[in-house]
Amino acid sequence: MHPHPLPLISHQRWKLRLAFAALLMSGAAMMFDKQLSAVMSVQTYVPTLIGTAVGLAAMVFSVIAVRCPQCGTSLAWLAISQKSSSSWLDWLLDVSVCPKCGHSSIKEQSDQKNAL
Ligand SMILES: [Zn+2]
Repeated sequence: MHPHPLPLISHQRWKLRLAFAALLMSGAAMMFDKQLSAVMSVQTYVPTLIGTAVGLAAMVFSVIAVRCPQCGTSLAWLAISQKSSSSWLDWLLDVSVCPKCGHSSIKEQSDQKNAL
C-alpha cells in the first residue's frame, strides 16, 4: 500500500482550532454587543472593538504560527494570499508538500516510526 502523506500541519491543527475558537468569540462579541455592553456596563462599541481585536489577533496568530516544519514558510499566509476564498482552508488542511522547499510529511512519518 502506498502511504498517504500526512498533511504538513497535522501537528499544528490545535493552532487553527484555537484561532477558530477566537474568531467565534470575536463574532459572538460583535453579535451580542448590546447584551455584553449592558453586562459589563460599558459603551456598546466596546464589545465590538474587543471582538475586532480578538478576530485580528486570531488571524495574525494563525499566519505567524502555522508554518512549514522545515523552512518556516507561513503556510496559513500562503493559503490565504494565494488560494481562492473557497479553497484556502481545504488546501491548508490537506497540503502535504511545502510549496516553497518541497518538504514532505512522509519523511517525518517514517522518522517517527524509526524513533519508536
Ligand atoms: Zn518548507
